[in-house]
Amino acid sequence: MTPEYLDTTTTIVAPTTAPGGAVMVIRLSGSRAIEIADTLFRGRKRLCDAEGYTLHYGHIIDSQERIVDDVVVALFRAPHSYTGDDTVEITTHGSEYITTEIVRLCIERGATMATAGEFTRRAFLAGKMDLSRAEAVADIIAADSRWSHNVASTQMRGAYSAKFRELRDELLHLCSLLELELDFSEEDVEFADRSTLRSLLDKVENQITSLTSSFTLGNALKNGVTVAIVGKPNVGKSTLLNALVEDDRAMVSDIAGTTRDSIEATTVIDGIRYRFIDTAGIHTTDDKLEQMGIERTHRMIANASIILHLATADDPTFDSVAYDDKQHYIRVVNKIDYATDITDIDSDALLISARMGTGLDALRQRLRDIVDTSKLDAGSVVVTNMRHYAALSQALAALSDARRAMNVNMSGDLLSEDLRRILHHIGEITGEITSDDILHTIFSRFCIGK
Ligand code: GDP
Repeated sequence: MTPEYLDTTTTIVAPTTAPGGAVMVIRLSGSRAIEIADTLFRGRKRLCDAEGYTLHYGHIIDSQERIVDDVVVALFRAPHSYTGDDTVEITTHGSEYITTEIVRLCIERGATMATAGEFTRRAFLAGKMDLSRAEAVADIIAADSRWSHNVASTQMRGAYSAKFRELRDELLHLCSLLELELDFSEEDVEFADRSTLRSLLDKVENQITSLTSSFTLGNALKNGVTVAIVGKPNVGKSTLLNALVEDDRAMVSDIAGTTRDSIEATTVIDGIRYRFIDTAGIHTTDDKLEQMGIERTHRMIANASIILHLATADDPTFDSVAYDDKQHYIRVVNKIDYATDITDIDSDALLISARMGTGLDALRQRLRDIVDTSKLDAGSVVVTNMRHYAALSQALAALSDARRAMNVNMSGDLLSEDLRRILHHIGEITGEITSDDILHTIFSRFCIGK
């Protein structure tokens, strides 16, 4: 039996706009959408007689023939709609009462309430978009900076899927060469010249590697770049966080140990979201609560992309902080407003006064320079989705098996099996190969009405 969430035979309804605006849109989609809408709508003509891509002004009438609202109905006929089914979008005044009443009337006439992401899931199941494009719809709704919007929009418009189609075609070509060879195995022919195979495999590997390595950037663009602000107590970490996000997020005080737990605040610098974490000051203490905060600080440092290490002009020394070569480390000397002599200060360090706002533009610029978006300007495809990254990593593992098989002159059938595994993982990204569970997990993260 088809699970309820994969059933596309019902007609579904949901508000597609968030409450609070001047107008609201209710979407009704499915084979009975137009018929159900006609039972509620009174306009110049019946919707069932109207063509697709038309707008209709009229009233929504309840069971007692009372007018619920003046509305504009947009009509889309299958297959030319978002979901691929007949779809009616009713624009009403932005009242929660009106919206609830119209949704209730639709349900009374036979529609069912749409679940989270159900409109987009139907679009995917109807072949209107592949899975990576459907996932990008959720990303574009969540995008909160220029670059996170840019990557989601490229993915939604299909450039991303096109890249995977290209990869798939190359792999299929390789498989077909090998499988043709198998058909003629009796005759001892080698259709798939091994050096051609090897260079095709190299090409595919380069493409997949460049996609997996784009994930660091993609993840930063989608989820924000984490910046841990670290240093001894009282160096001005909280003051700096507040100054960078232009808000009083962290408590500032002269009392060492005020920030016992980490505080996070985000801001966008030139189109990129940064997540600043004000960590508890690292020092030796017997206070149990402070010790827990310091332990957490060490974990925060380990997970951050950028470490901002703060000292002050009167004590410009930096204790050692452990970080790895993938992390960026910036030394910052704060409180230069009361420094009389800065000659002893490490020349690599940025000089700032968090309190006065001095040097903050240079610091912002340094943070922005770390995120190289030049690839995006050139229209490169960037992986932002953890699920895609995992599938690509598995594809790479299958690829190295294929390469090993080729090195030891393994027979064509075994080689082709490895290539099919690579294809399988690529297919998981675009949705050619997916389990119901995966679909359910992906779409349940959407909002209702999308
Ligand atoms: P944290 O413990 O590292 O988070 O330090 P705080 O941000 O709480 O600051 C400790 C003290 O230093 C507060 O009294 C701040 O007002 C002060 N402070 C922070 N930044 C500056 C600065 O740039 N100049 C001066 N003069 N004082 C600062």
